[in-house]
Amino acid sequence: KDTQTRDKDKSDRATSEQVLDQRTRMILYQMINRGVVSEVHGAISTGKEANVYGAVAFADDFSKVYRAVKVYKTAILSFKDRERYITGEHRFKAGADKGNNRKMVKLWAEKEFRNLRRIHSAGIACPEPLQLKLHVLVMGFLGDRRGWAYPRLRDANIPADEAEQTWSALYIQLLGIMRRLYQVCKLVHADLSEYNILYHNKQLYIIDVSQSVEHDHPRSLEFLRMDIKNTGDFFRKQGVDTLADRIVFDFIITPGGEVEEPGLKQAIEKLYATRAESATDDKTAAEREVDNEVFRQQYIPQTLEQVYDIEKDAETIGHGEGDKLVYRNLLADQVVLPKLPDEQVSEEDQSDEGASHDSEAEES
Ligand code: ADP
Ligand code: MG
Repeated sequence: KDTQTRDKDKSDRATSEQVLDQRTRMILYQMINRGVVSEVHGAISTGKEANVYGAVAFADDFSKVYRAVKVYKTAILSFKDRERYITGEHRFKAGADKGNNRKMVKLWAEKEFRNLRRIHSAGIACPEPLQLKLHVLVMGFLGDRRGWAYPRLRDANIPADEAEQTWSALYIQLLGIMRRLYQVCKLVHADLSEYNILYHNKQLYIIDVSQSVEHDHPRSLEFLRMDIKNTGDFFRKQGVDTLADRIVFDFIITPGGEVEEPGLKQAIEKLYATRAESATDDKTAAEREVDNEVFRQQYIPQTLEQVYDIEKDAETIGHGEGDKLVYRNLLADQVVLPKLPDEQVSEEDQSDEGASHDSEAEES
């Protein structure tokens, strides 16, 4: 090989690890030709699996608008981590070929695009998905008019004198977002934390949704519980009086919950009020942490087939201790309750209260 080709090979390989490879550049040129973007600027973020670049486009009236371009890295080897999100995801059934990185990366970009579309059209603050081509995703830019991206929630600069009030309002805002995400979009974020939420002017923006899963994914509730833990930990660190993980979990998944304001906020206020009335409010922080730990370690079956010990669980429900089961609300909604050995509950009773704790069955 002559020097030129060798240099070219070398530079292609180098760029695939850090900046833009030949294929990616071609996609960007094509997007520029079509006016999706007109210039692509420097990286806003360089991550393990993707880089995000700032870009400029021109609106119909020739005014300048900013965009964000997320370029998934095709040369990554860290896809093993991601397998757990794909396995069981029916949208991935066709074409998930673990041996083919390029194809996998394209699927991730596609998944992020579709999830963004769903989240955006549900009215949840997130980047607007604009264009997708292979592993390159163009979306609305979350930032100011000078082209500075909004900070991650972790870096949010909130003045000390309004910190207490702002943080607790943001916590409540996030609970509402999580419920909407679950009940309207039928999604669990699955990597929700102060790193994947942007903040501006008292508003939270949800980003990074390529790994988000359908609520019927076999591990979605496990991922949801993890999201609740991570975000709860963060808000507790900011001094927010957070609700117990289990309460938040129920709030998010219980079917038929209010998903619009002002009802959404009122529903959360009610949770606080209920807690204040019950004895749990007297609990010390340490006791609450124990409750959270217990909840976090509970096994969560996603469907009736996965219910570990169905007889035992049915008995628990029968003894009026149904609220010990993490999935009681899920059962109430989606599946028919297992019958107790000699239980005589009418069909009506079952469909009505489902897995709830205080059914008449307990006396029988
Ligand atoms: P990764 O998979 O690398 O974590 P993210 O989607 O979380 O990718 O994006 C990485 C970073 O890029 C974010 O923390 C944020 O700072 C920035 N970013 C991502 N999307 C946008 C956007 N639409 N507007 C502005 N900044 C963004
Ligand atoms: Mg991220």
